[in-house]
Amino acid sequence: MSVYKLNVFTCRAVWKCKAFSSRNMHLLQDKAFVNGRWIAAASNNTFQVTNPADGCVIGVVPDMNTADVQQAIGAAKSAFDSWQNTTAKERGKILRKWFDLMEQNGDELAKIMTAESGKPITESKGEVVYGNSFIDLYAEEARRINGEIIQSPMPSKKILIERQPIGVAALITPWNFPHAMITRKAGAALAAGCTVVVKPAEDTPLTALALAKLAEEAGVPQGVFNVITCDRQNASDVGNLLCTSDDVAGVSFTGSTAVGKILYKQCAQGIKRLGLELGGNAPLVVFDSANLAVAVNGTMASKFRNCGQTCVSANRLLIQSKIYDTYVDELSKAIKGLKQGRGDEAGVTAGPLINKAQFDKVSALVKDALDKGAKAVVGGKPAPQLGDLFYEPTMLVNVTSDMRVYNEEVFGPIATVLKFETEEEGIKIANSTNSGLAGYFFSEDVNQIFRVARKMEVGMVGVNEGLISCAEAAFGGIKESGLGREGSHHGIEEYTYYKYVCVGNLN
Ligand code: NAP
Repeated sequence: MSVYKLNVFTCRAVWKCKAFSSRNMHLLQDKAFVNGRWIAAASNNTFQVTNPADGCVIGVVPDMNTADVQQAIGAAKSAFDSWQNTTAKERGKILRKWFDLMEQNGDELAKIMTAESGKPITESKGEVVYGNSFIDLYAEEARRINGEIIQSPMPSKKILIERQPIGVAALITPWNFPHAMITRKAGAALAAGCTVVVKPAEDTPLTALALAKLAEEAGVPQGVFNVITCDRQNASDVGNLLCTSDDVAGVSFTGSTAVGKILYKQCAQGIKRLGLELGGNAPLVVFDSANLAVAVNGTMASKFRNCGQTCVSANRLLIQSKIYDTYVDELSKAIKGLKQGRGDEAGVTAGPLINKAQFDKVSALVKDALDKGAKAVVGGKPAPQLGDLFYEPTMLVNVTSDMRVYNEEVFGPIATVLKFETEEEGIKIANSTNSGLAGYFFSEDVNQIFRVARKMEVGMVGVNEGLISCAEAAFGGIKESGLGREGSHHGIEEYTYYKYVCVGNLN
């Protein structure tokens, strides 16, 4: 079903909306996808999806409650009976078909993503390639989920270890990567033989529903891939049900550390399998030995991609004293080269923030820093001439440890720069956080590269590189940044358990 079936008021708003000038967008849905059917909430409640660039309504989707979600869990549970018994080859084939359709519909997926998340269209196209790559990878990995036959200490017994799918997996995802955060989880889950219920973020349900449409076209069987939508008010009740239902075997969550902690507690009740991909506070360290141009390029890629709204975004730039002045000069020039605007305009490299809460948070963090003595070398204020949610790409210097920008994940286009003297001091500052997702450093000194990579207290390190994510690598954090890994063959671990089978009394 397309936006043609929206009510008259919304329909007018959608067609007035600059984001969707074309009527040939067959992936735009206004219903949730449960048990292979497109359904409304039982209450018929809906909520609007808006474009953060201009506040325009771009769609209306069901506002589901726990009764609706129970239905989706039931569908996934029934589908598990047969899906777990398909061969890995069959599952791989279906995933491959899904991937092919994602590739064929990449432009439309990117358009939808830019409209609901605000990210520049080039970044949305990049995310489509990245998000698709998980389905590509797991279409292959399905056939490599092997067990073991172990050397038995007793001649009369054979020791076999099998890997089995855990059951229904609930996947709760954020708005900042509306496509990839779903496929990174769902690809592994489906390959393993699990069925899933996906709950996307309130801000970005349309990309999730577009993926469901393509899953339907790819022949993913009924009930294997379900997407339920709800607004922020219902998120905690829905989350609680997904974490406590006896019919859900595991939960995989990507989002804030605060919500991750709530889900951890809820999952404890049923000792559920849990994967947590949470917030970061990534240090980016530039040593005197660094190649300056490489360091500045890497900083721009890590800090300003998706307007700074990525979990692996460099949050604190730690610059060694000898290179500090030239780095600050060069980074200022690069930041001034960003082009702010709506994501569907050509050449735009920095879009709006996702919503008012995020805008207010970024504004408050910068104000706190400026009040405490930081200086804005570039930017430092909203850009209301572009829209309500635009904030200027900013660089703050003279940042100190008592400032909120130092301690909290900014999740916005704010580069905070600190100076340090020795390698030891740089590493100490880098590690002085409860987060441990990604860390970056720039150095041309081989000894230093191995030394520092080992000492950084993070799950992922970028050395002379600001972009580190890919489907083949194991993504995830330590400390309060999460549990488990996604992507790579390790991502399958979250969705399988080991079963020891002892065959005895052999002659
Ligand atoms: P969030 O507020 O934690 O929301 C994430 C998801 O959880 C959304 O679907 C949200 O629904 C839902 N949710 C909110 N409260 C819930 C509750 N009580 N129970 C169950 N679900 C609940 O995070 P966000 O602001 O969307 O995303 C930004 C955060 O995600 C950042 O901290 C970022 O670092 C982190 N992140 C981490 C990774 C990673 O791989 N480690 C990747 C991307 C983002 P609503 O949208 O309806 O509120």
